[in-house]
Amino acid sequence: MKAFTYERPSSVEAAAKAAAANPDAKFIAGGTNLLDLMKLEIETPTHLIDVNGLGLDKIEPTTEGGLRIGALVRNTDLASDTAVRRDYGLLSRALVAGASGQLRNKATTAGNLLQRTRCPYFYDTNQPCNKRQPGTGCSAIGGISRQHAVVGVSDTCIATHPSDMAIAMRALDAVVETVKPDGSSRSIPIADFHRLPGDTPHIETALEPGEFITSVTLPQPIGGKHIYRKVRDRASYAFALISIGAVIQPDGTGRVAVGGVAHKPWRVEAADAGLAKGARAAASALLADARPTEQNRFKVDLVERALGAVIAEARG
Ligand SMILES: Cc1cc2nc3c(=O)[nH]c(=O)nc-3n(C[C@H](O)[C@H](O)[C@H](O)COP(=O)(O)OP(=O)(O)OC[C@H]3O[C@@H](n4cnc5c(N)ncnc54)[C@H](O)[C@@H]3O)c2cc1C
Ligand code: SF4
Repeated sequence: MKAFTYERPSSVEAAAKAAAANPDAKFIAGGTNLLDLMKLEIETPTHLIDVNGLGLDKIEPTTEGGLRIGALVRNTDLASDTAVRRDYGLLSRALVAGASGQLRNKATTAGNLLQRTRCPYFYDTNQPCNKRQPGTGCSAIGGISRQHAVVGVSDTCIATHPSDMAIAMRALDAVVETVKPDGSSRSIPIADFHRLPGDTPHIETALEPGEFITSVTLPQPIGGKHIYRKVRDRASYAFALISIGAVIQPDGTGRVAVGGVAHKPWRVEAADAGLAKGARAAASALLADARPTEQNRFKVDLVERALGAVIAEARG
C-alpha cells in the first residue's frame, strides 16, 4: 500500500475544506471497498478524509413525506429501520441480499453507491483495463465475460455496477445530496448519478472531484408490493448475476430496475408500462438495445424469467 496522510474532520464544512486543500484525497467511510483497492494499489490516494465523524448517520422524515438517509448510515441499520421496512421494503430486501452481515455492519449508504466494479480484470493489475488505466484496453471484451454487462456497454468497457442497494434506490427514485469543495450543495437524481462507460469508463458518477455525499433522500412512499430477486452463483455472499428490484401495484403496473446487466442500475421507464402486460413485454423494453457477448447472452433470458417470477409473486 502507498503511504498516505489521514484526517478526521468533525463537520461538513471542515470536510469540504479538506477536499479543496487535497486534490488527490479520497473520502473513507466503512472502508470495505476502498481499503482493498488501496492494498492492491488500484486506488492510490495521498490523503484520506475520514467522514465517520460528520454525524451523517441518521434516518429522518423529510418535510415532503419521504425519508432522508445520512451518508454514513450503515447498511445493517438502514435495512432494519422500521420506516424503511414498512414503506420502502424493496430497499430493505436489496440490502440484506448484499455482502454478509459483517460487511453490512461497516458498509455505508454513500460507500455502497460508490463501490467499484467487480470485473476480475479491474482487480488484476497484470491485465489491461481501461477503467483502471485509461487507454490500455479492455481485457473482458474477447476474454471471460460471463458476469459482465449486456446493455449500455461501449467498446471500451463492459463492466457492471455491483450494488444491490442502488437497484432499489433507482426503482424508488432516490436523490443523492452532495456538498462540493467550495461548500455549495446540490441534489442529483439517482437516474443521473451513475454513468454509462462510453469512452471514459474511469469516470463512474456525476460527482465532481472532491464532492461528497451527505445523504440520500427518498420521495413519499408509493405503496405496492416490494420485491427484490437476486440470481447468483451461490445462495449467499455473492454478487448478482442479475437482479430485479420491483414495486408492483395491485393493477399490475409498477416500477422495475435491473442489476448485474449494466454499468449503472438499469431502468427504462417505458418498461414500467410493460409490467402489466407481462415479463416478455417488460424485458423486451428493458433490454431492447442489449449487446451481450457469447458468454453472457444467458442474462437476457434470465432477466425475462426472473421478471416472470417477480410478477407471479406480486400476483400471489
Ligand atoms: C467480499 C465482499 C462481498 C460483497 N458483496 C456485495 C454484494 O453482494 N452486494 C453489494 O451491493 N455489495 C457487496 N459488497 C460491497 C460492499 O457493499 C461495499 O464495499 C460497501 O457498501 C462500501 O461501503 P463503505 O462504506 O465500506 O465504502 P468505502 O470502502 O469506505 O468507500 C467506497 C468509495 O466511496 C467513497 N465514499 C465513501 N463515503 C463517501 C461520501 N460520503 N462521499 C463521497 N465519497 C464517499 C470512497 O472514497 C470510496 O471511493 C461486497 C464487498 C465485499 C468486500
Ligand atoms: S470491462 Fe471495464 S473494468 Fe473490466 S477489463 Fe474492461 S475496461 Fe476494465
